[in-house]
Amino acid sequence: MTKVFIATFGTESNTFATYPGSMRDFREGLWCEDGITNATPSPWSGPAKLWRDRALVSNWTVHESLHAYAQLAGTVSRRVYEEIRDKILEDLSASGPVDAVLLYLHGAMVAEGYDDCEADIVTRVRQIVGRDVKIGIELDLHGHLDQTLVNHADLIVIFKTYPHIDHNDRADELFDLMQRTLAGEIDPKMSLFDCKIMGLFPTTRPGPMPKFVEDMIAAERSNGILSLSLNHGFPWADVPLAGANMLAITDGDQELADEMAVKFGRYFYRIRHEAALEFTSMDEAIALAVENSGKPILLADVSDQTGGGAPGDTCYMVRAFLEAGIDRATFGPIWDPAAIEICFQLGVGARTWLRIGGKFEPQSGPPLDIDAEIVFLQRDSSQESDGMEDVPIGDVAVLECKGIEIVLTSIRTNVFSPGFFTQHGITLTDKKVIGVKNLYKHTDIFAPLVQAQYYVSTPGLCQPDLSRLKYKKIPRPIWPFDPDPLNLDNAKSSSGD
Ligand SMILES: [Zn+2]
Repeated sequence: MTKVFIATFGTESNTFATYPGSMRDFREGLWCEDGITNATPSPWSGPAKLWRDRALVSNWTVHESLHAYAQLAGTVSRRVYEEIRDKILEDLSASGPVDAVLLYLHGAMVAEGYDDCEADIVTRVRQIVGRDVKIGIELDLHGHLDQTLVNHADLIVIFKTYPHIDHNDRADELFDLMQRTLAGEIDPKMSLFDCKIMGLFPTTRPGPMPKFVEDMIAAERSNGILSLSLNHGFPWADVPLAGANMLAITDGDQELADEMAVKFGRYFYRIRHEAALEFTSMDEAIALAVENSGKPILLADVSDQTGGGAPGDTCYMVRAFLEAGIDRATFGPIWDPAAIEICFQLGVGARTWLRIGGKFEPQSGPPLDIDAEIVFLQRDSSQESDGMEDVPIGDVAVLECKGIEIVLTSIRTNVFSPGFFTQHGITLTDKKVIGVKNLYKHTDIFAPLVQAQYYVSTPGLCQPDLSRLKYKKIPRPIWPFDPDPLNLDNAKSSSGD
């Protein structure tokens, strides 16, 4: 009988953030020591649950270890990283010989002393299981990837969509490939191409990325090609393996894998300027909000989005709303457990001066003092994500100040759906402007509600202007710091796509 070992261990480390990734971050995100079955459906629990269910349907024996996934912050402390890693490795050793290992990792975890946690984990897993056991890994496309991981794994499948709506589809695909590999039907060969690019490349905005994804999927239907993945990279980490990579997996044909990785890697390189997300200055964004008299516009406070490891409690944008006299607005989330506790003591309907935000770390910037009414309170809340899934956001307080409804949460979070506001008593349709601490993940779900969306280059840790960050360890040359690192801009296309 086939025996499979399944574990989840992920986060994304912003190495410019001073707040270290802690055990609490994992426990607040996803933490299952007794199997994934009873975990709340979420983007972090989905893949392992799917693998477990499919393995049982296939009459495999399942050994589960820890499933841990954290909202992002800075570099993970060495103690926390090693404790979780070693728990998974001990469980693997204790489960005895297995045929396959399936790991859901994020791909951009940096811990003290470890620039590439995923390579460290998978290298150790390989040492335990030996060369013949098959290792399959699923990664977020905002990860770091180099040859070490490719050498130690047999199958790597990466999300194709940003916003990430395909984590379960990719998990399904990885399971299929693993099942076929174990059955001896296929013999996966992987190849990686370094695109020498850093940036943000959403796959649903107008431009070349939707077609790039379609082209990858179309090519996967060709003979011999098992899987194609673009690892976009995570720009706010100063590590030697930063940047985008193209990964190809073929059936038994290393040469074809090399060829496909180069072909799609160069294709992505050629579209990099048009594929990269564009940003609006804060002054311009506030002027647009002031002038707006129609449907709401959405402003994304991109630099303080917790999804990239930022604190999630800077007040620059909401302060700008107040100073510009914008009424009929909402803004959130701002992380502030202490202010929320004060709100719970006072109760709904109370009016008070309150100091909010600016607490998480030195780069949180100044707090904001407001004369506000407490209009909504809820303990232990969550927001829906992608239909059936839920993301915990902790305790919630909604404050109203000069026509602006501000949402505070006790867990650092992004906005995953309009329900983040509407579940907490806020109407969106009557607003001039909706402000969210997000980068891009809200875009498609808010499109029907708003007339336009702008990605605003606010101050903060997930600064879109990468030239403002002090990188010391990233590889060079790399775009956008070097204009044409592959020396292809003036060369004729040779890839034929
Ligand atoms: Zn991501």
